[in-house]
Amino acid sequence: MAVRALGQNQEVTSVLPHRDHRVAELVERLASVPGREGRLTHLEVLPARAAVTTQWPSWCEPDVVAAFGATGITAPWRHQAEAASAAHAGHHVVLATGTASGKSLGYQLPALSALRAARSAHGQRGATVLYVAPTKALAHDQLSGLLTLGLDVRVATHDGDSTREQRDWARDHGEYVLTNPDMLHRSLLPGHARWARFLGSLHYVVIDECHHYRGVFGAHVSHVLRRLRRLCAAYGAQPTFVLASATVADPATTARRLTGLDVSAVTADASPRGEVSLGLWEPPFTSFTGENGAPVRRAASSETADLLADLVAEDVRTLAFVRSRRGAEQVAMTAAGLLADVDGSLPGRVAAYRGGYLPEERRAIEEALRSGELIGLAATNSLELGIDISGLDAILMAGFPGTRAALWQQVGRAGRGAGDALGILVAGDDPLDTYLVHHPEALFGQPVEATVFDPDNRFVLGPHLCAAAQELPLTEAELGLFGPTARETLDSLTASGLLRQRARGWFWTDRRRACDLADIRSAGGSPIQLIEADTGRVVGTVDSGRAHSTAHAGAVYVHRGESWLVEALDLEAAVATMARTEPDYSTTAREVTDITIVEERGHRSWGVCRLAFGEVDVSHQVVSFLRRRQPSSEIIGEEPLDLPVRSLRTTAVWWTAPAQALSRAGLEATDLAGSAHAAEHCSIGLLPLFATCDRWDIGGVSTAAHPDTGCLTVFVHDGHPGGAGFAERGFQTARAWLTATRDVIASCTCEEGCPSCIQSPKCGNQNNPLDKSGARVLLDALLDTASDE
Ligand SMILES: [Zn+2]
Ligand SMILES: [Zn+2]
Repeated sequence: MAVRALGQNQEVTSVLPHRDHRVAELVERLASVPGREGRLTHLEVLPARAAVTTQWPSWCEPDVVAAFGATGITAPWRHQAEAASAAHAGHHVVLATGTASGKSLGYQLPALSALRAARSAHGQRGATVLYVAPTKALAHDQLSGLLTLGLDVRVATHDGDSTREQRDWARDHGEYVLTNPDMLHRSLLPGHARWARFLGSLHYVVIDECHHYRGVFGAHVSHVLRRLRRLCAAYGAQPTFVLASATVADPATTARRLTGLDVSAVTADASPRGEVSLGLWEPPFTSFTGENGAPVRRAASSETADLLADLVAEDVRTLAFVRSRRGAEQVAMTAAGLLADVDGSLPGRVAAYRGGYLPEERRAIEEALRSGELIGLAATNSLELGIDISGLDAILMAGFPGTRAALWQQVGRAGRGAGDALGILVAGDDPLDTYLVHHPEALFGQPVEATVFDPDNRFVLGPHLCAAAQELPLTEAELGLFGPTARETLDSLTASGLLRQRARGWFWTDRRRACDLADIRSAGGSPIQLIEADTGRVVGTVDSGRAHSTAHAGAVYVHRGESWLVEALDLEAAVATMARTEPDYSTTAREVTDITIVEERGHRSWGVCRLAFGEVDVSHQVVSFLRRRQPSSEIIGEEPLDLPVRSLRTTAVWWTAPAQALSRAGLEATDLAGSAHAAEHCSIGLLPLFATCDRWDIGGVSTAAHPDTGCLTVFVHDGHPGGAGFAERGFQTARAWLTATRDVIASCTCEEGCPSCIQSPKCGNQNNPLDKSGARVLLDALLDTASDE
């Protein structure tokens, strides 16, 4: 229906590039199709922005300027020059501007100038630069960019793909070495004696895409960088750190936490941009019901398929991002089916893009999109780095991609250069997406999303202190570098015999490599191997903490967009066996949780209510899993599981409301459990807006009376040993976070609660009891007394 209504307007051939057919009109048309009333909740049009260029700073080496000039860059944008000059002056700096704002130039300019200047002064390698990227792919992109400049600078990658000869060459002759935190941790730092000359002449350390370093991974990387700084100092170097980040809340604070240094931020983006229109779209409730009779919204992927068909019918080149490969294929197929009713030639112009293509297959798809042979493509989020598509007009997102940074990255795929771009975010059926489509300011205003991690987590810090001690004996004076918990952690490592204290400091006395104590990509616990049942091939690994809920027998496990059915989970052998499959359902595990307070680390009083942060013991157990038909989410069965209880010492934020506050608010004793439970679920769903985490990284407990507090208490805890900083961020932003929670509950149009507001997919208590109106009253009473942070 929808397609036909739009398809009648066949004289429109290419909508976006022409100013006379404004993007806004197109969106209005999509939204005004009969039956779609109310789905477009907001359309934000960000006007085109002209570039602000400036002069090349006077300190730049002329051949570096000439090399950039030859690639078409005749003058830097203001933010590039500003960051470059700060770095050149020896100030640590983070450049936090939008996608495609040329952040590389900001660090390449001072780095290459330093290398060229040192070479002319010494005639040989006189300075070095270390570039650190979160992925190999990014480092390789960076390498080809540097090689294109054609400067006489010795650039080399040092990663898992490098041969022994390449690594030796990088170490002995490389001036600009590109690596990743894993290689620093396992190879470069432990082998520092051989890198002494490189480290001793290090001028710059570049930390690219530093918003990737979050959660437990972020804490690990922060200590890898402290170990690097310590070794540089030992070899007489004080490198300047230049960081690049997506736009997030308070990038200077994050950069400071990550490096342990004073870092200033450059955030005013002076790059040009075409007009960007971003529509926020909320699927309607469907006629069938979910758990406890709750209404269920139409799947974001089904809605996305409709919109993809409409846009293709209008000849708008569109890329749709969908969570799984199966989902992407379904979206492409559904869109093609709808288009067949409009014009028999159209279905062939929509395709799904999956990971794992050969380079030539990838290029064929890129070419088909460029030439216009393909107009619509559905892909998984893992497309991100692998494909080079230009000339797209529109981006559809089936569900919020997790972070604001990721959303703008995806929208940035459309309308590169001066062309206008359209993006539509189609909300998934959960509290965060619901909040976003009703609160555009969360996407367009000042970012509230911060890159969060906790360098003081002792579970993370311990192995790095051991690694540091093996690299060079640790002295008392160096402990400050590793933060306030270093001394205590060191003492317990010494007591356990891993380190030994001598006159010259703490020594590693074990025969093992200390760096093997920490797997910096793992969230804790020993990893479970995912094995293909037929072949015995290792497909990947999953943290043991997550295996219970994602890799139990019967689970549909999505790995890089591919679906697998888990046949068995053997915790003792640390393996899960599974087989490739395309089931028409997904699974979600449900768990029950208990919590006890170990130590309060901070609190705030909100009237008679109280907000606290501290250490807790969590015990939780996955008790069952649900099968849900996809894409509708209809529950088709629940099966019990027999998995052991897991215990975890971690951090939590909690709030308490005493009886007097509850009775004053008019809450009856019988309302309390359901009200607290509903508030807990919804607040877990909203925390990822403030802390860059996934709702599966955190958990919660609520009770009408908790033994440790004596009154109604709602806990939200980190899911990793020692905490990842998410609960702490909740404590810091409690007022805004809980206000957002209240707003979602207040604005959701369901009667008694649904997955968009208070129902949680992983609730071990069958989402029962839940009291939607009580939760609102409870949160109102709590926030009434809230003081500003
Ligand atoms: Zn609802
Ligand atoms: Zn629950």
